[in-house]
Amino acid sequence: MSNDLKTIEPTLFELSRPGRLGASLPGCDVPEREPADLLPGVPLRGGVPLPELAEPDVIRHFLHLSSLNYCVDQGFYPLGSCTMKYNPKINDEAVRLPGFARIHPYQPEETCQGALEVLWQMQSALGAVLGMDAVSLHPSAGAHGEMLGLMLIRAYHDHHGQGKRRSVLVPKAAHGTNPASAARCGYKTVSIDTDARGLVDMGHLRTLLEQHEGDVAGLMLTNPNTLGLFEEDIVEICDVVHRAGGLMYCDGANMNALVGTARPGDMGFDVMHVNLHKTFCIPHGGGGPGAGPVGVKKILEPFLPVPQALRREDGTFTLDYERPLSIGKIGSFYGAFLAIVRAYAYIRHYGREHLAEISENAVLNANYLRARLGKTFEVAYDRTCMHECVFTLKAFKSHGVKALDVAKRVIDYGYHPPTMYFPLIVPECLMIEPTETESLETIDGFITAMESIAREAEENPQIILDAPHTAPVRRLDEALAARSLDLSWSSDRESSASAQGRTTTPGTGREAAATPVCEA
Ligand SMILES: *Cc1c(COP(=O)(O)O)cnc(C)c1O
Repeated sequence: MSNDLKTIEPTLFELSRPGRLGASLPGCDVPEREPADLLPGVPLRGGVPLPELAEPDVIRHFLHLSSLNYCVDQGFYPLGSCTMKYNPKINDEAVRLPGFARIHPYQPEETCQGALEVLWQMQSALGAVLGMDAVSLHPSAGAHGEMLGLMLIRAYHDHHGQGKRRSVLVPKAAHGTNPASAARCGYKTVSIDTDARGLVDMGHLRTLLEQHEGDVAGLMLTNPNTLGLFEEDIVEICDVVHRAGGLMYCDGANMNALVGTARPGDMGFDVMHVNLHKTFCIPHGGGGPGAGPVGVKKILEPFLPVPQALRREDGTFTLDYERPLSIGKIGSFYGAFLAIVRAYAYIRHYGREHLAEISENAVLNANYLRARLGKTFEVAYDRTCMHECVFTLKAFKSHGVKALDVAKRVIDYGYHPPTMYFPLIVPECLMIEPTETESLETIDGFITAMESIAREAEENPQIILDAPHTAPVRRLDEALAARSLDLSWSSDRESSASAQGRTTTPGTGREAAATPVCEA
């Protein structure tokens, strides 16, 4: 079995036949002119060799290409930490309303009051769900929210004459974006150990706070953490960090475990982001657009970016730029507006009374999966989990099978693989997050598939090592494909591809694209 592309997908250029036409444009209503007459003296290229095809061929080509990808509308997508829940289509209906879809960011405020009200309502709704006093909708992703949160922490310390604080504490199990955001904001990260419970090692935390006395700007914590476990000492953690002069940042990527049930603000966190594209149902997996709003307690509110949506006394809505201590702008205009509309529709669909059903069922599904799959696969920290569960496959090494191999074999059974090799502290791990939108039958089907793969590991490991067998492409050099991603086509691709050491199927000019490990 080779690692080459298994199928040869022709491009539109290769399907092209001279003289075929798929476009029907209205007739030209201005006098036709030669380009050279319109732009005299400008060196213009000649004709552009665009593909020539009939409409059905174009539609079939792109529909076929889209079927090569895997999405949650197709099947179970248990990619841990990414919350790949089903996205109700009613949210897209809301987004298509002309008052949202056809809006322009430079439109006068009095002509887009509805859109401004959505922003204001969303700030309030998220504040209520997270237990925070104010919310900025500007960040475009979780990582962007982390960066904003740390900028706010920094602005706060500067304002209080504590600008010299340089350390941010981050558990070793944290998502890679946490230390990256800290570094991006000029902080140095200090790693906290995980104890035998799978939680923050309180002894180590106390030692670190002493070692870095006067230097701690804050602590970034995911709760439930990246092992899917609730940080039971959270109140005490917030207390000791606050007493050391630091602020508490919550990575709210795992909010699906808490929404409607518990609020990070009540636990003692000062600032947090929440990934609307995870917990609040904006489609993701293709890379955007997402949204990572940030909620803060009163002490951080003055520093929030501009503008904030505001309701005036007369009930009209406006964008408030009069914020003297604001850190300024962190993006263009007002955030990923249509993404926010989707999430707002989703929150309103549940309403205050029913939001808790999301987290209750997400946690129930994960624990069902843990209890049943735990008979075949070793649970890394075997206790009641929250919305996801981490397994370690180190025992499979005796069959020569790694977590990566099992993840690839899952594809043959018709599912998206779980997240693998995260968190880094668990050897050979798979992180499985079923979400609340999956039925008992779906989860049972996945468990049966995993049990079958475990049997294969004993009886016929080669079939796992060669997987996937049914996917359009086999195993790829994912690191290389990600680093030198090239989505363009050119007729002389082959020579340039081999010059850069890419995998290319001879004669097609096309190369391997990677399956993402965790794209959320
Ligand atoms: C997804 C995730 C992030 C980053 O969020 P993006 O929206 O992908 O930038 C951060 N922390 C955790 C725990 C996550 O799962």
